Amino acid sequence: MTATHSTRMLILGSGPAGLSAAIYGARAGLAPIVVQGMQPGGQLTITTDVENYPGFRDVIQGPWLMEQMQAQAEHVGAQMMYDQIIDVDLSERPFRLKGDSGTLYYADSLVIATGAQAKWLGAEGEQLLQGKGVSACATCDGFFYRGKKVVVIGGGNTAVEEALYLTNHSHDVTLIHRRDSLRAEKILQQRLFAHPHIKVLWNQAVDRFVGGGDPEGLVGVDLIDTVTGHKSHIETDGAFVAIGHQPATELFVDKLPMDEGYLLVEKGTTRTAIPGVFAAGDVSDKVYRQAVTAAGMGCMAALDVEKFLAEADFEAVAAE
Ligand SMILES: Cc1cc2nc3c(=O)[nH]c(=O)nc-3n(C[C@H](O)[C@H](O)[C@H](O)COP(=O)(O)OP(=O)(O)OC[C@H]3O[C@@H](n4cnc5c(N)ncnc54)[C@H](O)[C@@H]3O)c2cc1C
Repeated sequence: MTATHSTRMLILGSGPAGLSAAIYGARAGLAPIVVQGMQPGGQLTITTDVENYPGFRDVIQGPWLMEQMQAQAEHVGAQMMYDQIIDVDLSERPFRLKGDSGTLYYADSLVIATGAQAKWLGAEGEQLLQGKGVSACATCDGFFYRGKKVVVIGGGNTAVEEALYLTNHSHDVTLIHRRDSLRAEKILQQRLFAHPHIKVLWNQAVDRFVGGGDPEGLVGVDLIDTVTGHKSHIETDGAFVAIGHQPATELFVDKLPMDEGYLLVEKGTTRTAIPGVFAAGDVSDKVYRQAVTAAGMGCMAALDVEKFLAEADFEAVAAE
């Protein structure tokens, strides 16, 4: 028999946005259900040191922080489901979602907090050295490279912004781009070219991230010239892959308005175009993409849900 769950508040995703929404929703008496997805705890579970989440003087570990958030959410009454949503029907109320497990979820309100994954190059050594010199977030990890040599890979706005940001910590920043011109906005390009601590390597693609030392960390990057095929090597302490992000919104194509895959919300709120459907965290944020901003948006989503349900004139799918 198909398992079914009915809830006043369904949350997709168990990163900082989803779990913050769960904490606020549970404390508002909405008994939220959190569908955790394939990455319980979200992106912070694949990193180690976190130094910028408020409240902790000492360095904390990403997976530990997410365990604490989950424990807090469960403590106040949120229910976790180890499931991944594979189908969504938002055309009528209650909303109907189907999990990979076959379970059906009926919900009066929905918070989408499915995040956005960084795009990677797929080059040799990249995965192995993630968190050991290879990163996709300068704001998160730039601080660890104070006074060190870093490279940024990419040619769009993100890459240029990351390179400029990294000059706060490093006086030796190299932008590596596979073409001979950048896609970034002109104003950003001007700032980049004028910066005394940034140089650009044109027509270069990363062939391999090279590890070394004990414990192993990134020591350099093998490059290949995209025009001549010439191979070279550059020594570096850190490599930032900045080729964009992929929001996890495939389920909502043709159902909710998006901008480059990011869910659009009404300014200053988490409301999407469908009443009762809210979006929070990286899935609707192409600018900040931080744990604390995601958590803040999770809080906003829960408050928006609470207001929506209080004003709703339909019969609730589950008792509060
Ligand atoms: C390596 C790394 C290091 C970082 N370091 C820092 C740092 O030091 N400080 C900082 O502030 N930020 C850091 N960040 C960024 C931070 O992790 C993100 O901004 C934050 O996790 C976004 O939270 P979120 O809840 O929006 O999404 P995510 O954390 O991405 O969580 C998304 C959730 O959605 C779930 N999901 C996806 N699809 C489905 C589905 N179909 N059904 C159900 N669930 C689904 C996933 O399983 C996951 O639980 C780092 C990111 C990375 C990758």
